[in-house]
Amino acid sequence: MINLLSNPSKMPCVGFNIPALKYCPAAQLLFKVKEKLDKLICASCYACKGFYTFSNVKASLQARADFVIDSLRKDNGDTFVNELTKQIEKKYFKNGVAKKLKNIDTSLFRVHDSGDLFSVKYINAWKRVCENFPQIKFWFPTREYIRESQMDALKDLASLPNVVIKPSALYIDEKAPSIAGLDAGTSVYSCAKKAIADGHSVCPATSNEDDHTCAGNNCNNCFIKDFKKPIAYLAH
Ligand code: SF4
Ligand code: SF4
Repeated sequence: MINLLSNPSKMPCVGFNIPALKYCPAAQLLFKVKEKLDKLICASCYACKGFYTFSNVKASLQARADFVIDSLRKDNGDTFVNELTKQIEKKYFKNGVAKKLKNIDTSLFRVHDSGDLFSVKYINAWKRVCENFPQIKFWFPTREYIRESQMDALKDLASLPNVVIKPSALYIDEKAPSIAGLDAGTSVYSCAKKAIADGHSVCPATSNEDDHTCAGNNCNNCFIKDFKKPIAYLAH
């Protein structure tokens, strides 16, 4: 069976990823708007370069996407939900009790370092996964809020107390979006001073030159539903 879990390097926990852009319909729409392409955050997507372009990494991301799509077509996502649930259970729990793992916080899960919530069926499948683990906080960034057809499903997923759906800004140096029914948004800024002036909390992993990890900066803000302030990541 394919390994569905990944270990995003800067994250304090494991995650789930699929290829960027190909499974980001909102980003594809944004590329069609020809203005401000130099400011488009997706145009400098870190998941489209570096480590993510290694052939073994690309193949494994594609295999995960193929697994999801096959399941959504064949059984409305049941196989995906069941297998992912099984793998999280095995990684994070022993006999129903959360494991204590080195460098992995088993109360957190990051979804989509790469990729997005590309369809309503897929969003609904994630809701079922998250419902299976009320003790884990799931963080999803998304730009799918720009597609009206996705909003009901996104809000439904965001209604779970253990799920944080953070709408991501579209252009660098623009304020994080505030979308009714979703959690506080995020943006990317070129300068901390402007981000703070615009009311954001600046991500320490992007401002601390000595440590680019969440754990090293003792910060879990993106995973916290009650964290109502928008977050700005600094562009490098
Ligand atoms: S939505 Fe996220 S993963 Fe997809 S292209 Fe944009 S920045 Fe990259
Ligand atoms: S704001 Fe905190 S939790 Fe979010 S990415 Fe930055 S360090 Fe990690």
